[in-house]
Amino acid sequence: CRDAAVAIESLNQLSKTSMPLCMRMCHEHIRAQHHVKHGGRMQYGLFLKGIGVTLEDSIRFWREEFTKKMDADKFTRSYEYNIHHNYGKKGSMVNYTPYSCSKIIKEMAAPGDCHGCPYKSVDPATLKTKLASYGLSTSHIEEVMFFVSRGHYQIACGKYFMLTHNSNVEPTINHPNTYFEESQILMGN
Ligand code: SF4
Repeated sequence: CRDAAVAIESLNQLSKTSMPLCMRMCHEHIRAQHHVKHGGRMQYGLFLKGIGVTLEDSIRFWREEFTKKMDADKFTRSYEYNIHHNYGKKGSMVNYTPYSCSKIIKEMAAPGDCHGCPYKSVDPATLKTKLASYGLSTSHIEEVMFFVSRGHYQIACGKYFMLTHNSNVEPTINHPNTYFEESQILMGN
């Protein structure tokens, strides 16, 4: 975990600059749909904990989004417990660890959900459109897709990292939280 707390007000910006695709797409899904199923809540919720979002801020983030579609009582009854649980504050008191790439790559997202590794789970045409909307040129998209088509999802992710950080050093991507940390270091934060 990072030492400094990350404010939820900075998540929109951080999702663009420092989150890998699996987390940026979850973030955008939640902002657009104001809901996400259990798999997405676990993947993104634990990631947020790992980057330094406090329990209180985490509850505020999910509550602000979910209560755009449901009343506050339902949110408290149905969702708040699980957020406490993920922070090790309720139930078994286990302090759950953010998911690694190998765990996320194994996940298959159901319709209406956003979890999993997009390099694997999103169909190639949609993935290309998404990468273009994130500012990659056609040739850069082809560089990423070269690895996607061979099933090298983490290498594709490392290539995306290099292209979006103007870096010559190819990082080894094993964990979305490490991706985030490396990005923040390169950006001088
Ligand atoms: Fe996320 Fe890892 Fe997939 Fe990158 S390779 S998008 S960090 S699961």
